[in-house]
Amino acid sequence: MPIARRLRTIGLLLPVIAGLALFAGLAGFRVSEGMGLAALRETGRHRLDLYAESLEREIDKYAYFPATLGLERDVLDLVTGRAPLAWGLNRYLERLNERAGTLSIYVLNRQGRVVAASNWNRPDSFIGEDLSYRPYFIEAAAGRQGRLFGVGTTRGEAGYYLSSPLAEDGAIVGVAVVKVSLEQLEQSWSTVEAPVLVTDENGVVILASVTSWKFTSLRAMDEPTRRHFERTLQYNAHPLPPLGLTPLDRIAPDAELVRLAGPADGEAETTGVFPVSGSFLAQTAPLHGTGWTMTVLSPASDITGMAWTRAALAAVGSAFLGILLLMWVQRRGHLRDLERKVEERTRNLRAAQDELVHAGKLAVIGQLSAGLAHELNQPLAALRTLSGNTVKFLQRGNLDAAQGNLERIAQLVDAMGALTSQLKSFARKSSGAPRPVAVRRPIDNALFLLEQRLRRSGVAVQLEVPEDVAALCDPNRLEQVAINLVANALDALAGRKDGRLTLTARTEDGRTRIQVADNGPGLSEEVLPRLFEPFFTTKETAKDGNREGSGGLGLGLAISAGIVRDFGGTLSGANGADGGAVFTIDLPAAALPADPTTILAEDLACPTLPPPP
Ligand code: ADP
Repeated sequence: MPIARRLRTIGLLLPVIAGLALFAGLAGFRVSEGMGLAALRETGRHRLDLYAESLEREIDKYAYFPATLGLERDVLDLVTGRAPLAWGLNRYLERLNERAGTLSIYVLNRQGRVVAASNWNRPDSFIGEDLSYRPYFIEAAAGRQGRLFGVGTTRGEAGYYLSSPLAEDGAIVGVAVVKVSLEQLEQSWSTVEAPVLVTDENGVVILASVTSWKFTSLRAMDEPTRRHFERTLQYNAHPLPPLGLTPLDRIAPDAELVRLAGPADGEAETTGVFPVSGSFLAQTAPLHGTGWTMTVLSPASDITGMAWTRAALAAVGSAFLGILLLMWVQRRGHLRDLERKVEERTRNLRAAQDELVHAGKLAVIGQLSAGLAHELNQPLAALRTLSGNTVKFLQRGNLDAAQGNLERIAQLVDAMGALTSQLKSFARKSSGAPRPVAVRRPIDNALFLLEQRLRRSGVAVQLEVPEDVAALCDPNRLEQVAINLVANALDALAGRKDGRLTLTARTEDGRTRIQVADNGPGLSEEVLPRLFEPFFTTKETAKDGNREGSGGLGLGLAISAGIVRDFGGTLSGANGADGGAVFTIDLPAAALPADPTTILAEDLACPTLPPPP
C-alpha cells in the first residue's frame, strides 16, 4: 500500500478509534452507574424496611394505650363530671407514664379541657388547659383514633400524640392522650450507615438521623398551610425552612436521585458516619398506621465516581484495542506490500531467466549447427567422391569396385541418419514426468553431442557407467544436465594437454549417483559457495562463436540443479582428490522394467559416429 494511502487509512481510522473510545466510555459509565444504582437500591430497600419496621414497632407499642384508659371507672367519672378529680387518678397516670416511658398521659373532657394529667405536680402541668384546637383531640372527639406528630405548646417538646375517644354507653364523653417520645429511636439512628428521615403528612421532617434536618420541610409551603400550622401550633412556631433537597432523576416510583445542599456556613455538621450533602439515592416507604413517610438517603457520589473511573478505563482500553487493531492493519498492509514486491521481483527474475535461458539455447544451437555442418560436410564430400568414382567404375565395367563404393555409400548414409535421429531425440521436448531411466543412455547422448569439442580438446574420456544403473527421472532432462556438466569440465580443461574426464554411475542405498569429474583447476573458495547461484560465472561472455565454452551466462548449474531437484534429487559440486572438480547428481534409484519392449524409443542407444573417411 503506498504511504499516502496508508496515511489516509490512519487518518480515517483515528476518528473511528476516538469515537469507539468515547462510545465505550459512555457505555462503561452507563453500565457501571446502572449496576451501582441497582446495588444501592437493593441495600437502600433493606435499610428502609429495617428502619421502618423498628419505627412501626415502637409506635405500635402505644397504639392501644390511650383506649385502655377508657376502662378506668375513675376516668369516666371524671370526664363526665359525675365525680370530682380523684386525688389518686393523677398519681395513677404519673406512675403509668413512668412505667411506660412515655412523655405524658392525660385525659380531656368532652370540651377539650385537660382534667387529669401525669405531669399534674409540675409547674407546667397541662391540667386546666384547653386543647380542643389540637387535631388529635378533634379526631378522637369525632370517634376516631387520633395520631399526630407535634411539638408541645407548654414545654416545646416534640412527640407523637396518640389519642382515643373515651366512650360510655355509645357516647363519646372524653379523650385520652398519650404523648410518646421518639428520641430513643432517633438515637439508635445515629449509628445507621445512611441518613434517614421521617416526614409527616405535611412533608415536615419530624424525625431525622441528622439533627439539623429536623423541622425542615421537603415541600415548599404555601401560605394557607403555614397559617394552619400557626393556628394549631402543631410545630410550635418552628419556622420550617426547606431541607434543600433537589430532585435529579426519578429511577422508580419509590426511588429518586437527589442532591442535598451542604449545611449553611457556621452550622457545619459532621455525623462522622455518612456524608450529609452531595448526591443520594432517596428511597421512600409509607409508615403504616401513620400518615408518615420514611426516606432513606443512600450516598450515590461513590457510584458516580466509580462510574467515571470505569468509563475512563473502558475508553482507554478500547482506544488501546483500537490502536492495536490499527497497528495490526498497518502491519498486514506492510506484509502484503512486501509479499507483492517479492512476487514482482520473482516474476521479473523468472522472465529474465527465461530470456537468458533462451539466449543460452540459441548459443548452443549456433554451436551445434557449426558442429553439425562440419560433421555432415565430410560424409557429403565423401559421398560426392564415392558416387563420382562409382559412375566411372561402372563405365569401365569394374563392377566389384562399384559395389564396394556403393556399400561404403550406404554406410555413410546410415551414419548420417544416425546423427540426425540423435539430434531429433535431443530436440524432442520431454514430458518431464519421472520414470525409470537407464542413465547410460542420456550420458552417451550427451557425450555424442559434445563429441566434436571432446575430440578437438584432446581430453581423455573415461566412462564407468554400467548399463543397469537406473534412476527415476526424465532422460532428456538428465541428458541436458550431463551436457552442462561435461561442457563445464571441457571449459575448465581448455588449453590442457593432459585433460581427463571421468564419468561414473552407481546405485547405493536407494540412490543413484552419477559423477562427472575432471582434472582441471577445481573449484576455488570464491566459486564454491556461489556455484549454483543464477548468473554466477567466472567465464567471459561468449563472443559470437569466438569461444567454445557452453556458457558464460552463469545459468548452467542453476538450471541443472533445478532439474535434478524436480526429480527429488540433488546436484552438488566439490573438489576431487586430484584437485579437479567433481559434480555429483544424486537421484532416487529405480528398477528397470524387465520387459525390454516397454523401453521407449528415446531410450534406445544411438549408434556412434563412424570415424571420418
Ligand atoms: P557458466 O558455465 O555459464 O559460467 P555455470 O552455472 O555452468 O555457468 O557455472 C558456474 C561457474 O562454476 C563457472 O563459471 C565456473 O567458474 C564454475 N565451474 C563450473 N564447473 C566447473 C568445473 N568443472 N571446474 C571448475 N569450475 C567450474
